[in-house]
Amino acid sequence: MRVYNFAAGPSTLPLEALEKAQAEFLDFAGTGMSVTEISHRDKAYETVVRQAESLVRELLNVPEDYAVIFVQGGASTQFAAVPLNLMRGGKADYIVTGNFAKKAWQEGQLYGEAVKIGDSSDKTYTYIPDLDKLKYSEGADYLHITSNNTIFGSRYAEFPKCAAPLVADMSSEIFSREINVSDFGVIYAGAQKNLAPAGVTIVIAKRSLIQDPLKICPTMLRWKVQDENGSLYNTPPAFSIYMAWLVLQNLKDKGGVKAMQQQNEYKAGLLYDFIDNSKLYKNNVEKKYRSIMNVPFVTGSEELDAKFVAEAKKAGLVSLKGHRIVGGMRASIYNAMPVEGVKALIEFMTKFEKENG
Ligand SMILES: *Cc1c(COP(=O)(O)O)cnc(C)c1O
Repeated sequence: MRVYNFAAGPSTLPLEALEKAQAEFLDFAGTGMSVTEISHRDKAYETVVRQAESLVRELLNVPEDYAVIFVQGGASTQFAAVPLNLMRGGKADYIVTGNFAKKAWQEGQLYGEAVKIGDSSDKTYTYIPDLDKLKYSEGADYLHITSNNTIFGSRYAEFPKCAAPLVADMSSEIFSREINVSDFGVIYAGAQKNLAPAGVTIVIAKRSLIQDPLKICPTMLRWKVQDENGSLYNTPPAFSIYMAWLVLQNLKDKGGVKAMQQQNEYKAGLLYDFIDNSKLYKNNVEKKYRSIMNVPFVTGSEELDAKFVAEAKKAGLVSLKGHRIVGGMRASIYNAMPVEGVKALIEFMTKFEKENG
């Protein structure tokens, strides 16, 4: 029996996409082979990559002059690829709003002057610094942000406007809300949160920015090379791209990013309203910056938190344990989490509060 899976990543995927993969697993597109057995140079596979790319373009309305590429190594490898492709002047700004943002900033320091211009660690990353008060560095090659903070559950309500190109790690929220791609120089996202199994990372980059990577940039990390080769410079993470393709088709069938955003806001609204009105549970993120993808909450007692996680699991609501550096609980309610899953969680929380509050 399938459970409601609230894991932060790898995480739940749309049932329709999983069933499609299952149905065609042994014979993909009349090839008599599974998609994991086909050469990546085979026409049948090339079609998958090209269609996945064009769905990304269509669903996010990506302008023509942007590259859309599928690469390996997770978002963490992009922490290095960002400076290696963009830090020609040797300096970039970073806003540190969480654990992954901090890691990206630290990686940036390996390649040049990575200036931390904003930091919300003073309140355990429960807010986004006031964008009007930031002091951008003159001549910075880019400004790096993490648009949604997977671990602490905060997100940018709006995005910074500065002279330098904006680079955003959108791993835990890509395709969850409408964005204007041309506001960004580069967007990247590890797929295992909201798109596909682990193994593939999407990079969307304005082509004019990526023509001149640092000399030390490894060939594999050169976005320009990946773009020129249509994400097929070497063997790609074939199965993950295939699954991304199925998930994107499913997203299109469901009405695209706009419809998904409405559903996500509705789901998150139900959960936050419930938490705010309960006497037992608490979410500490400033309301304006609350994530609609990752909802952390605590009871105030570690013992009770542990009991909650264990009993929820028995009720078919799994992976609700908070990240090890935060504790408590976290419900990741990505695109693929149905409204019924959130309602089932609230029902369980109500019952648990009655019994333990
Ligand atoms: C999960 C996550 C990462 C790390 O992704 P990997 O694919 O494990 O490298 C980076 N940034 C954000 C925002 C994430 O949620």
